[in-house]
Amino acid sequence: MKPALEAKGLGKRYGATWALRDCSLCLPAGSVIALVGPNGAGKTTLLHLVTGLLRPTQGTVEVFGQDARGGSAEALAHVGFVAQEHPLYQGFSVADLLRMGRSLNLHWDRALAERRLAELDIPLAKRAGALSGGQQAQVALALALAKRPALLVLDEPLANLDPIARRDFMRAVMAAVAEDQITVLLSSHVIADLEPVCDWLVLLNHGTVQLTGAIDDVLADHRMLTGPRTGAD
Ligand code: ATP
Repeated sequence: MKPALEAKGLGKRYGATWALRDCSLCLPAGSVIALVGPNGAGKTTLLHLVTGLLRPTQGTVEVFGQDARGGSAEALAHVGFVAQEHPLYQGFSVADLLRMGRSLNLHWDRALAERRLAELDIPLAKRAGALSGGQQAQVALALALAKRPALLVLDEPLANLDPIARRDFMRAVMAAVAEDQITVLLSSHVIADLEPVCDWLVLLNHGTVQLTGAIDDVLADHRMLTGPRTGAD
């Protein structure tokens, strides 16, 4: 099976600043991948390169073997994306957003989105701006999943959500994984938020990949280097 995502020497420069440098990754299909790093590490830049919102300064990026540089339609047909802070059109109702998505996407499964939102008691007639933060996150997720993506990309989906909304959001993501065997790539500042559900880790810092691998292996290696945890940790 082709990797969900393969990057070779991928880099992005803004003026004199390299936001991402010489990034090479091969991420397995069917996994839930945590992209972790502090502020300014380059997470959003990497996710925007994968989703075709940015063109790389150097290197290549492929999604399921398709060149994703510059937003190629073939590669992006397989990608669902929820941007950081999932900006919905606040003045539109949820039903309007579902209709707009349908008009933009050939493979849009509106019934699937409606079913997911009904399960969460989110009223379709309500204006997006009148929903709670957790409900808005769920609508953004349902819109991304209505495209029936093979790769779902979520940029810091848990930031600004309260603990219950975080739990519900991750439950919805994992339900979609169980139903459709999609690959998920999601970013966070905090590894602890994602460790329980992820099976692969990419650690970014200062625009470079510091660590990548199966999460159990990476964390076991890290603990071997840093020593066992003590009660004082
Ligand atoms: P955060 O967690 O704060 O969202 P991040 O890990 O997503 O950070 P990026 O947003 O990718 O990091 O930013 C990486 C670097 O690139 C930072 O130094 C940032 O200031 C810089 N950068 C990002 N976007 C631009 C831009 N449009 N123009 C100039 N510099 C930028």
